[in-house]
Amino acid sequence: MIDVQQVTIDIWLSDRVQNIRSLAELPTMKSLNLSDSSNIFQSFDEYHSEFEGIVYVNKNGITELDTSGEVGVNVSDRQYFKEAKNGNAFITDVIIGRQSKKPVIVISVPVFDRAQQFQGLVFGAVSINTINDILKQFQDKNRETYLVNRDGMIITESRQGKLGETIDSELFNYALAGKKLDDFYDSTTGEKVLGNYKWAHNNQWLVIGEISKNTIYESFYRMAFIFVSVILLLALLGYVFMIFVSKQIEEPIQRVLDGTKKIGKGNWGYRLSSPTYKDEIKELQELSHNFNQMAETIESHIYSIAENEERFRTIMQYSSDMITIHDANGKYLYVSPAGKEILQYEDHEILGYDSYYFIHPEDIPLIEKNFEKLLQNGYVVSTYRIRKKNNDYIWFESSIKYMKGNNEDASRIFTVSRNITERKMVEQQLTEANKLLQELSSKDGLTGILNRRSFDERLEEEWKRAERNNLPLSLIMLDIDFFKAYNDTYGHLGGDDCLREVANAISQACKRESDSVFRYGGEEFGIILPETDLKGAQTVAEKARKTVENLQISHAGSKISDVVTISLGVATIIPTKYASASSLIESADKALYQAKQEGRNQVRSYYKE
Ligand code: GH3
Ligand code: MG
Ligand code: MG
Repeated sequence: MIDVQQVTIDIWLSDRVQNIRSLAELPTMKSLNLSDSSNIFQSFDEYHSEFEGIVYVNKNGITELDTSGEVGVNVSDRQYFKEAKNGNAFITDVIIGRQSKKPVIVISVPVFDRAQQFQGLVFGAVSINTINDILKQFQDKNRETYLVNRDGMIITESRQGKLGETIDSELFNYALAGKKLDDFYDSTTGEKVLGNYKWAHNNQWLVIGEISKNTIYESFYRMAFIFVSVILLLALLGYVFMIFVSKQIEEPIQRVLDGTKKIGKGNWGYRLSSPTYKDEIKELQELSHNFNQMAETIESHIYSIAENEERFRTIMQYSSDMITIHDANGKYLYVSPAGKEILQYEDHEILGYDSYYFIHPEDIPLIEKNFEKLLQNGYVVSTYRIRKKNNDYIWFESSIKYMKGNNEDASRIFTVSRNITERKMVEQQLTEANKLLQELSSKDGLTGILNRRSFDERLEEEWKRAERNNLPLSLIMLDIDFFKAYNDTYGHLGGDDCLREVANAISQACKRESDSVFRYGGEEFGIILPETDLKGAQTVAEKARKTVENLQISHAGSKISDVVTISLGVATIIPTKYASASSLIESADKALYQAKQEGRNQVRSYYKE
């Protein structure tokens, strides 16, 4: 815009120079025919309102023609006169006309006669208002353009000041320095403005354009205002819509909520009526429908629970077993009639008491252990003794179930107990009988030491143990010498006595706890020596031999001694899975046979290669 203004002003000025030149070069002017020239000047002035007046100045600087007033004014001191003398056209700065006393710009062109002699000049005074009018077409309420001269004097009127006043803005100083100003600055009126300038009229005049900060931001503010308004409007619409929607949803939900409250208070038969909700949105219809279904289920469950309760009450009442309910600490809360019948307590003698109070002291550790199991597994079966009112103890077998509640107070222990005293008695008798039988079956009836069956069992056990631990196992087999003859001499009963004495003697010869002596058969005995090597076994065998000899039982029938003697065979092995216990017996037998062969009353060992 400023560029356009600058060009406009410059062109306009040069057009005016052209105007004046055409007058200065008139033939009437060249021939200094003033009266004709005056007529032309008059008509020219009439048609060119931008000129205040057309003046001819003679070569001495005195006005001779003036369309606007008096002549005879001396302007020889004016610069335009000096320029004209030098042959130059000239445009003045704003000056105050000598005639009009108004601010004007003077445009002058020299006059030369046909001999090219200087004959004065023609000038036109242009009212400053004319320039003002030119610039006004570029102004509006937001933008402002005005002209100042190099002194800052305002040439065209604007809000920045009246004609002839001077400005001193930051932009003006920048313009003088030939610099650009890219920031806001205070205009003469004190407004923050952004501005630019352009030199016109041969750097005489400054075209300044300014636009206020408010104007620049106005469009932005307008946009922001519209934006915010739209957002607010949308929010409002959204709010109204939400209120509408939530009303649609709230009422049905409230109805369902009321329904849940009614059911919660035990009004099991309550249902939502389907005509009320059949016009609602699908989800809400479904919700109401589901509510009714749920209510249906709850109602039927409640009835079946009541039925079950009745059934269980009957069972508790009529069961011959004692049914009890305890709290989580084991205190009696309920005892079925059968229980009171069995134990003979009245309610007040048992309810509220700790279970442990009635339990046999010897069974308390077991009950404590079972209680832990109960808490862990939820279920336990326990057998124990419980005290009746008359202080007798009876045996109970109880199935105990722990029902965990939301907290410990709500937890319960349900117990079904059966009186098993009779069964327990029979069991005890049976156990005792079995124990006796076991003892009887493992021992030899004549000598009282372990029998052949025990020998087989024990040897098998020790064999396995030694194999596991990789330890030696020794076996001594021994046989009374010439026992047939003894029987023949002293009779069978005498023989039996002798067998008892020998058994006793060899038992004593075996000191170690783990050693065991068996009657293998007839007058043969076996000694199993776990964790004993050959040398140890030989020592035991020799000791047994000596002990029997030292009994000094007369034996008239013996061919080798006066007293009863024994022969012994020893065998030792470190068992492996490649051998068996019977091989150990065989080896010991072989050694025994050798002892017999080599004269009896001696120990022989079997070495396996
Ligand atoms: P050897 O020195 O070679 O062993 O001669 P022995 O006579 O002892 O040998 P033999 O095996 O021929 O005799 C065993 C006898 O032991 C036969 C039997 O009368 C006797 N006997 C076996 N069991 C019993 C018993 O329980 N009581 C009595 N009194 N004698 C028994
Ligand atoms: Mg024999
Ligand atoms: Mg014998």
